Amino acid sequence: PVRVRFAPSPTGRMHLGSGRTALYNYLLARKTGGQFILRIEDTDQKRYVPTAEQELIDGMHWLGLQWDEGPDVGGPYGPYRQSERKEIYLHYARQLVESGHAYYCFCTPERLEKVRQEQQARKEQPHYDGTCRHIDPDEAARRVARGERHVIRFKTPREGVTVVRDLLRGEITVENRLIDDYVIVKSDGLALYHLAAMVDDHLMKITHVFRGAEWLPTFPLHALIIRAFGWQEPEFIHLSVFLKPSGKGKMSKREAADLMKDGYSIFVTDFKDLGYLPEAVVNWIALMGWSYDDHTEFFTMPDLIEKFSLEGLNPSPAAINFTKLDHFNGLHIRHLSLPDLAQRVKPFLVSAGYAVDDEKLLHIAPLIQPRLTTLDDVVSMAGFFFKDEVEPDPAALVPKGLTPAEAVQVARRSLAVLEGLPEVSPEVAEPPMRALVEELGLSAGQVFGILRVAVTGQTVSPPLFESMEIIGRETCLKRVRRAIE
Ligand code: GLU
Repeated sequence: PVRVRFAPSPTGRMHLGSGRTALYNYLLARKTGGQFILRIEDTDQKRYVPTAEQELIDGMHWLGLQWDEGPDVGGPYGPYRQSERKEIYLHYARQLVESGHAYYCFCTPERLEKVRQEQQARKEQPHYDGTCRHIDPDEAARRVARGERHVIRFKTPREGVTVVRDLLRGEITVENRLIDDYVIVKSDGLALYHLAAMVDDHLMKITHVFRGAEWLPTFPLHALIIRAFGWQEPEFIHLSVFLKPSGKGKMSKREAADLMKDGYSIFVTDFKDLGYLPEAVVNWIALMGWSYDDHTEFFTMPDLIEKFSLEGLNPSPAAINFTKLDHFNGLHIRHLSLPDLAQRVKPFLVSAGYAVDDEKLLHIAPLIQPRLTTLDDVVSMAGFFFKDEVEPDPAALVPKGLTPAEAVQVARRSLAVLEGLPEVSPEVAEPPMRALVEELGLSAGQVFGILRVAVTGQTVSPPLFESMEIIGRETCLKRVRRAIE
């Protein structure tokens, strides 16, 4: 059975790339009836951010990705937080030392720094010089027993090559002499990713590893570690990084912060408040590294679960395209039922200070559904429906081509027409109002523009007569009269 894991490090905010990794894991698990595991990789105490784990959990919930095993829900292969698995890693590290695949290293940080500087002076790639590789194992064990400060390093073969296989890139061959003797357990006894993740993937029976392409350089080391234990290797799938919209390089922290000003972000948990549907974000990130065919672009989560396949993944880096996100958000907004749409826009109206009448909002929903790009557009587009009074800008009441006096005259004539009608719905009010336009020899834009500003208080609104019907005949008449005064 397929068993996959999302293994984030709680070191900061939840990037879109993490969202995508989590999504692909989830899709493969659901598609195949396998299990999806959440594992928190919190062994790096220095980079630990206390709020990060909660943000990851919130982000995944928002995207709609439920996991089957994890620190909060438990499961048969726990604990699922690496900081609670310290002893397990030490056990396996010692096993590697005993089998000759790892060794204790007693080099001081000062000595390592000196070695590094000498290598740099010789224009060599910095690497461990292998001093402690040659210490007799019994002697090393005695020094450890005496409490001498040490780390554990993996003993990479000096000769030959290592061949690894990435599902998207095929075979990659690396000369072993180029692979450093990486530290796998630090002097404080905590394992590093290289060991911890391989041990966990084995013990948790992981079949497919989706992770960022930043792990490609150490991939051969990881394969060597797995092989040193004689374990079965999972399939590895390295996903490309996201590039900035220009396609040139990764987004810097500064650029990411600047995005917020334009109503965008690269952090999963920001999109909710920016007015994006999780359905749209899922659709968008799903296609940044995967495709179904060369034309289908609208996918709901059930579609994705049905259609996702490893064959559809591609290794080329994707540029973040926010225009596409807006496009998908519009598509998914159009796809919502009206009650659902009403419930999703409501919080934006409420936080803008409007007292929202649910029944009225339900009537407004069909007017805004074709026009919204983001949910927060509801405030500028339909906030006026919840105002007792509107304050039209006097200048806006005078359309192009008319004098203020003429505009008042048009408003008077419009008022007279509306007063003679039993209601102001499109069916009842639009034909006589169009007849008035005709009679006055003006454009519909001029006449309806005056009415729109008088009744809604703004120059742009959903369709006029539909809006007037929701506002109600009495209120509309009152507002047109006020505009004439
Ligand atoms: N904790 C690693 C990261 O956040 C996970 C890599 C992996 O999935 O193996 O990059």
